[in-house]
Amino acid sequence: MTTSGQVKLKPGDTIGILGGGQLGRMLALAAARLGLRCQVFSPDPDSPAFDVVQYATCAEYADVEALELFAADVDVITYEFENVPAATAMVLSARRPVLPNHKVLEITQDRLAEKDFVNSLGIATAPYADVASAAGLRAAIGSIGLPAVVKTRRFGYDGKGQAMLREGVDVDAAWTDLETKSAILEGFVPFEREISVIAARGADGQVECFDVTENEHRDHILKHSYAPARIPETLAEEARSIATRIATALDYVGVLAVEMFVVPGKRGATLLVNEIAPRVHNSGHWTLDGASVSQFEQHIRAIAGWPLAKPVRHGAVTMTNLIGDEVNDYTCWLTVPGATVHLYGKGTARPGRKMGHVTQVTPPKP
Ligand code: AMP
Repeated sequence: MTTSGQVKLKPGDTIGILGGGQLGRMLALAAARLGLRCQVFSPDPDSPAFDVVQYATCAEYADVEALELFAADVDVITYEFENVPAATAMVLSARRPVLPNHKVLEITQDRLAEKDFVNSLGIATAPYADVASAAGLRAAIGSIGLPAVVKTRRFGYDGKGQAMLREGVDVDAAWTDLETKSAILEGFVPFEREISVIAARGADGQVECFDVTENEHRDHILKHSYAPARIPETLAEEARSIATRIATALDYVGVLAVEMFVVPGKRGATLLVNEIAPRVHNSGHWTLDGASVSQFEQHIRAIAGWPLAKPVRHGAVTMTNLIGDEVNDYTCWLTVPGATVHLYGKGTARPGRKMGHVTQVTPPKP
């Protein structure tokens, strides 16, 4: 096994990417610009990332033979989604460096482990409790109170696997509807806004954060990101410091996103960490056109063992996701002055599916 410190790619070397969605596609495009090749591993023959790489493996994540052949073809392995099965990561990391490391996956795949980890660093989250039954949910409501949010410990995304619980809720029905045996109950946070920090950490421990992003969701799916977030600089500094502490404690190599709630208070706003995404993140897409380096390039640099860039933002940036059939408006967006359109090449525009995004940069006045 090779450790992260030993990875030093040269132009022409090959990065293996687990997962073939738009994040893998944009990682491969960023790698190509730096003269690096990518091989994508995905079980889905329609993977958008397959379109932009010469070599691809279409196989299940449990297919050990395919994983071994894939590992033999690449110099370092990374992933574009956090639910990489532990067994897959084990097979691969025995053969090639896998960055970020597998401990990161163990923590971020489980909301309980993730919250315990964040709190162990002295960083605040919403109050939470482990829940494994309807009786356990009732007890957790007794200690945390209502309103609250119940979330499955694993495999939740875009609001899936979670439910808001209010006064008078039918606890047994809420538990049955969640269809899980392991969940957490979180106190509802009356947040003023949601923000995220996209941070990159190199194998040498250097951390570079992008300017804090403000995020607006619609139907639990990210719709708009704004950079910089409309928060005081002291709070932005604190948000970056939280992301840096998390990345450092995880011995992280690559880009991660830390989502946070800004909570108003009598003595000013405070921050609570909601979630860590151990990968490039939708709220960092603005960096593609709005900064001197993108989150995708920073990730590639980090896992290649190359120096990180110090990102410089080009102005006030808005990112708009094109969700479901909103993608059909792409010709309108193409004519908007200053807009840059990104389409992911996905076939069917199902409701809620992220099909593309648009960035708009307003340069500072001279
Ligand atoms: P998550 O899957 O944990 O990122 O949650 C998805 C979205 O649900 C968040 O971006 C928030 O808008 C909302 N949400 C999640 N947890 C809470 C909470 N404890 N209090 C208030 N809103 C929440």
